Amino acid sequence: MPSKLIDNWGRRMDYLRVAVTDRCNLRCRYCMPQEKMIWAPRSEILSWEEMERLCSLFIRLGVEKIRITGGEPFVRKGLMGFLRRIRLISKNLSIGITTNGVLTGDYLPELKEIGGISLNFSLDSLHRETFQQITKRDDFGRTREAIQQALEFGFRTKINMVIQPGMNDGEITEFAGLTKDRDIVVRFIEPMPFNGKHGDGLTEMSGREIFRVLEKKYCLESLGPNKSAIAALYQIRGFRGKIGIINGYTRSFCDKCSRLRLSARGGLRTCLYGVNVLDLKEMLRNGCDDPEIEAAIRSVVARRFKDGHEAEKARRNSRFESMSAIGG
Ligand code: SAM
Repeated sequence: MPSKLIDNWGRRMDYLRVAVTDRCNLRCRYCMPQEKMIWAPRSEILSWEEMERLCSLFIRLGVEKIRITGGEPFVRKGLMGFLRRIRLISKNLSIGITTNGVLTGDYLPELKEIGGISLNFSLDSLHRETFQQITKRDDFGRTREAIQQALEFGFRTKINMVIQPGMNDGEITEFAGLTKDRDIVVRFIEPMPFNGKHGDGLTEMSGREIFRVLEKKYCLESLGPNKSAIAALYQIRGFRGKIGIINGYTRSFCDKCSRLRLSARGGLRTCLYGVNVLDLKEMLRNGCDDPEIEAAIRSVVARRFKDGHEAEKARRNSRFESMSAIGG
């Protein structure tokens, strides 16, 4: 068994996020433009076999959790077969899927059968018109339905809401109210500067301000940070579910960061705020064997930035891409 992946700051890398496509069926205003989005050509996207080979290698190197993201994972044909094969590699692997929920409902029975899967739904409004203004699509009903069904199927379920002041910040307490009688985690996310040259700019709202809005209405009990320290967790007294605040912009969680990100084009990123540091597609297509790929991965893991602020400084003037390319 090869030794685990440990970075130059002593952090164990056991979490891989895989963007299986850069395409999406929504056009969230802070993420991508409504029209004329330029997608990567098919040949530039890793095939399912290539992704499977890399996942298998990362699992051998100690990755215990794989999050499937995108773009929207469910728009790519063959996702279910890929998940089944990943499950065969390791029955203990924890698999998470981040989805906008529009197409997810139809796949819930099969996802349940595969097993060990949790679902994170991105939902920025509980009102149809605001949902449409943010996503530029009229799919509110399908997303809400999918979340309800996921809970009925017994999936571990989270809702992620990106706070956009002036657009949906008035809904913070309403979202928190969803945790009253549902076994769900509702997470509020600080908007991040990942709109690159696309989408509308976001006005900041800090985790602190989000907390203040919540504590005005509810009695919050702190549950401390979650396992990966990315969210500060709370529970409203007497409520069933939990609330999380993710300081994505402030970046208060970097010292515990265990995440690697694989883009649909095969780029490996060791920090969300940095740039791709390894082209795994090129290595695969040039016929590199597993030990060569492993050595390249170890070498970039051994050179991680201490935190997202350092990584961002090192990008110099290069612009942040859309999250749809990075996978969130
Ligand atoms: N399509 C899937 C979805 O909607 O969940 C997965 C991909 S999406 C890029 C992943 C997450 O990134 C979503 O929750 C989305 O809201 C979030 N996101 C995109 N741009 C963001 C930004 N600028 N700031 C904070 N979160 C962002």
